[in-house]
Amino acid sequence: ESLANMIAAGEVVERPASVVKELVENSIDANSSWIKVELKEAGIQEIKVTDNGDGISDTDCEKAFLRHATSKIKDENDLFRVHTLGFRGEALASIASVSRLTLKTSTGDKASTYLVLEGGQIKEKNISDARKGTEITVKDLFFNTPARLKYLKTLHTELGHVTDVMNRLAFSHPDIRFDVTHNGKQLFQTSGSGDLLQVIRDVYGMNVAKSMLPIKKETLDFYITGYIGKPEITRSNRNFMTIIVNGRYIKNYLLTQSIIRAYDTLLMIGRFPIAVISIEMDPYLVDFNVHPAKLEARFSKEKDLMIAIEKVIREQFQKETL
Ligand code: ADP
Ligand code: MG
Repeated sequence: ESLANMIAAGEVVERPASVVKELVENSIDANSSWIKVELKEAGIQEIKVTDNGDGISDTDCEKAFLRHATSKIKDENDLFRVHTLGFRGEALASIASVSRLTLKTSTGDKASTYLVLEGGQIKEKNISDARKGTEITVKDLFFNTPARLKYLKTLHTELGHVTDVMNRLAFSHPDIRFDVTHNGKQLFQTSGSGDLLQVIRDVYGMNVAKSMLPIKKETLDFYITGYIGKPEITRSNRNFMTIIVNGRYIKNYLLTQSIIRAYDTLLMIGRFPIAVISIEMDPYLVDFNVHPAKLEARFSKEKDLMIAIEKVIREQFQKETL
């Protein structure tokens, strides 16, 4: 079992950013309205995620670290209409197997569990305080898999990946208050007001937020909303384009190209737009279950979606020039 967890970890836990993503998505799934993320040394030394969500009951705590232990899928039909971000029950077991992990959690009505694991083995079990929510600390990532540890890039690069993940999670959940620090210094903080433009300001700063244009389009299959940067504010890489589908951010090369195409002249000079685009669609039209890290998605009507995205951006630019 513990070897299987380490193998699974190879797929789910690539770097500190993957740990951050899985932990924060669990906090989101647990109905948290506030999530704090504290990193040390880009998360390689320590990642601490604290939330005010539902918590885990004492009887479920140890189960949560078993592979394929998910509380989120009851039968196979659920697989086609997952609304939670996690559903494989793989992340916690995987993360615990390659780190020193501490869990403090309570469902609120009474004290619950304090658990210490090392390489997936439970080392200590105790009673936590009764504050409702969960705090998970992941220390010394890959301490027992030196090959993985060696594969990590510089602190700067790893922190960049973590920041990308956190920015996108914040954009996907404007109604959640996020507080993100690195080595004690604040990276960003959002208010949880539900206003996406405000989150863009909190994350990218006032100058960017000021230059964003709202978009909105409803087609037969898609409801597209969000903000796009004016062509004069561009970036030298693609990381400033965020695509969110039914509440989860995804990586999709073709959809990103659709955004870029709408800016046509930009492509020529190797610059890329800033955009946060959210698409709602029937869950049957999208399959997130492509990759364990769930960053990719497959669409049944991909071509239509590509056209709709390019069109809504072009329409907004035309409105601007009127
Ligand atoms: P999944 O998210 O796919 O269900 P995970 O391995 O990520 O699997 O988590 C296992 C289980 O642990 C979850 O199904 C959930 O019940 C519980 N859990 C994990 N993190 C939290 C949290 N922050 N708050 C409440 N429950 C949690
Ligand atoms: Mg999960």
